[in-house]
Parts: sequence; structure tokens; C-alpha cells
Amino acid sequence: MEIITYPHPTLRHKSKPIRRVDTALREIVREMFKLMYEARGVGLAANQVDLPIRLFIANLEADPEKGEEMVFINPVVSMPKGTEENEEGCLSLPGLYGNVVRPKKVRINAYNLQGEEINTDVDGLFSRVVQHETDHLDGVLFIDRMTESAKVEIEGELDVFETEFNSRRETGGIPDNDAIAARLNDWEAKYC
Ligand code: ZN
Repeated sequence: MEIITYPHPTLRHKSKPIRRVDTALREIVREMFKLMYEARGVGLAANQVDLPIRLFIANLEADPEKGEEMVFINPVVSMPKGTEENEEGCLSLPGLYGNVVRPKKVRINAYNLQGEEINTDVDGLFSRVVQHETDHLDGVLFIDRMTESAKVEIEGELDVFETEFNSRRETGGIPDNDAIAARLNDWEAKYC
């Protein structure tokens, strides 16, 4: 398992709800936390590790020794209140940062790995993380939500990501789109 980077097609995949949680899925979540901490991230969505399932993880401290490890299965964001502009980054666009305007407060509904319901009103960084990660599960990236003028500023950086991705693909490091789609189908058949 590894964190995939822009413009990998799985990052544009809209994930289907998870219908079952098994030992293998718990192991996937464990490995996702490991990758997230290695990359010093505060959140990671399943499609960032090339899995088409509706799940993301978070630890607002980005540190296994601190904070709380949270798993959100089939998250739904609702009741947006206010707006706030803040800088965001993404483990699938390493080194790229930009300001994004989002609702300041939202409600997050989800289930954890124990099957318990999560139903919380969140604010600040927590609110931004659940919105950013839930976006991932719908195939939306934070660069899509940047202002038009901010998007112009990062065009060059996106070109570099695209060039690197294409050269990795040419050297066989990344499967073709049909192979990626077939793999996602298999995972959906198993969990969704
Ligand atoms: Zn992200």
C-alpha cells in the first residue's frame, strides 16, 4: 500500500458506501495510519491509497503518541455554518499549498470500526479535515475548491505532478486506466 499522487485516476473516483467491516479492512486501516504518520498528515482517505471505499482516518496531532485516532466510515457532512478561509495541503499533492474557503462549522455523521455511530458538530481544523477528506471520497480535491486566481498560481506545480505521473506510467510504475478500474471494481464487489 502507498499514497497515490495527483493525477492518479483513483483520486477522481466517487467511493461507494461500505457494507461490511472484516479483519482485512481493520488491517487496511492500521496500515493507512502508518502511512499517514510517515507523511506527517492529519487525515487520509481510502482512495488516496487506491481503495474505492467510503472511509477516511484522522489524527489532528499527526502523531501516534498524541491526539486521537479516528476512523470515519460512510461519512456524511451536513449543516454547514459560516465560512472560513485557511491554507490546505494534501498528501496526494505533496508540497503544494493553497487557501480554500469552506464552511466554518459542520456536522459529521459516520460509523467507526466498532460500528458505533459518530454524530458530532465540528469546528476549526477538525471541521476542515472532515470536509477535505469527505471531498476525497467524492473524487474532489482541495485544488478544485481554490479561487480562480489561486488556481492560476499553482498551474506550474500541477504540470510538474502531471509530467512525473506520466513518466512513472511510461516506465510501468503505474497501471493503465483499464487495469486501475478493474481493480477498483473488485474491491467494490468485496466491500460495497
Ligand atoms: Zn487530501
